[in-house]
Amino acid sequence: MDNAMKPMEFIKHIEHAFSFTKAHAIKMIKDFHKEMGFGLKGKKSSLKMLPSFVKKPKGNERGTFLAIDLGGTNMRVLAVRLHGEGKFETIGVKRFSLNKEIISETEKVFFDFIVDCVINFLKEYHLDSIYEMGFTFSFPVVQTSVSSGTLVTWTKGFSVKDVEGKDVVFLLDNALKRKGVKSLKIIALVNDTVGTLATKCYEDPACDMGVILGTGTNASYPEKTEHITKYKGRWNSDEMIINIEWGGFDKINRNLYDETLDRNSENPGMQRMEKAISGMYLGEIARLVVLNGLKNNLFHTKTIEDIFSSPYAFTAEHLSYIALDDYNKLSWLKDIHDLDKKIIKMIAHIITTRSARIASSAIAAVITWMDNTLTSPHTVAIDGSLFEKYPGYKETMESTMVELFGEASKNIRLTLTHDGSGIGAAIIAAIVSSSPQ
Ligand code: ADP
Ligand code: MG
Repeated sequence: MDNAMKPMEFIKHIEHAFSFTKAHAIKMIKDFHKEMGFGLKGKKSSLKMLPSFVKKPKGNERGTFLAIDLGGTNMRVLAVRLHGEGKFETIGVKRFSLNKEIISETEKVFFDFIVDCVINFLKEYHLDSIYEMGFTFSFPVVQTSVSSGTLVTWTKGFSVKDVEGKDVVFLLDNALKRKGVKSLKIIALVNDTVGTLATKCYEDPACDMGVILGTGTNASYPEKTEHITKYKGRWNSDEMIINIEWGGFDKINRNLYDETLDRNSENPGMQRMEKAISGMYLGEIARLVVLNGLKNNLFHTKTIEDIFSSPYAFTAEHLSYIALDDYNKLSWLKDIHDLDKKIIKMIAHIITTRSARIASSAIAAVITWMDNTLTSPHTVAIDGSLFEKYPGYKETMESTMVELFGEASKNIRLTLTHDGSGIGAAIIAAIVSSSPQ
């Protein structure tokens, strides 16, 4: 790149590098359908299309169930009372943060930590009966039943040792035993997208997609059992929720920044769509762009180089404050030159716009897979801080839908389903509890 690039030239270059046009979206939807088909047949595909051994809830499930929701940044423990008739209440919830040390510990230390959090929760809420529990585990897992599953590979920066290739319910059970907890029985292993779908579906039967836009990104939807030809075992329903694992979708264009991020990541070559979209990576992409701007003498503030020197120190949350011109929580950026603030704001906008447009197109692909003519209403349950908190993110997704489908996009409703990933594990535990598997 020319060493004396002007700000607007640079922004144009960035806009071009991160453009995701309607034509890109249409091509992506086609590729998505191909990969979904391959994944369901068990052919080579970047979409794993994992059977969840769960069907949609009816809204009439009842009882009190516990859940652990292991996300990427936080872990939550919850107690949920299901009243039936589509109504539930959370009677306890506690959040524990997962720091860098704990997510790279040994298997025993990590699962003991989870159980310590659960014990802490039970004490705080005086929950001393015997409970059935759902375990939301937001990583790619191959399940052979609703209550067991083997971790394929860690994602989102996790590297706990000796867990890949093992049954995570068995490991959690062992930790419960080690710690002498006898009052809990884990009866369901749930992906966060499946939990999110179940939560919304409990109150709204039109819900047929669960999506995560948080640290990582992924989605699930109910598939006709007869289409899941790779699964040869027994299943007692004509539909089963499929965990797409769409973070791995690899038919998207990548620019130099995406490639640099990927090369320096813990899992090069993998989770390509996740790396272009999700909260864990957006700040880092922006940082790489800023560093290139620096090379082009774009900024007026001398300290920019120091501010943006550490990988992953600049986050999606920071981008959202920049988008809002709210520098109260960004004291280290407060005093930079106004023009530099403007440029960084434009960079944030360009990168998150691409994220929202790709996310929306992926949802469009799954919905048209289920209903090609968009004749029925589709509620999409979405959980995750990126969708919830980034200013204008949802609106960008909605306008992408309008671009793609015009009037028919009215049949697609994107709804925030807060903490759905955890509540859903309790709902799924209720389904399992009441129906012999
Ligand atoms: P998890 O994925 O662990 O369930 P969240 O849904 O809270 O957790 O997502 C955490 C991710 O969301 C992090 O990558 C964080 O940078 C990002 N994030 C947090 N707050 C915001 C915000 N205000 N705007 C955009 N992204 C945010
Ligand atoms: Mg989550």
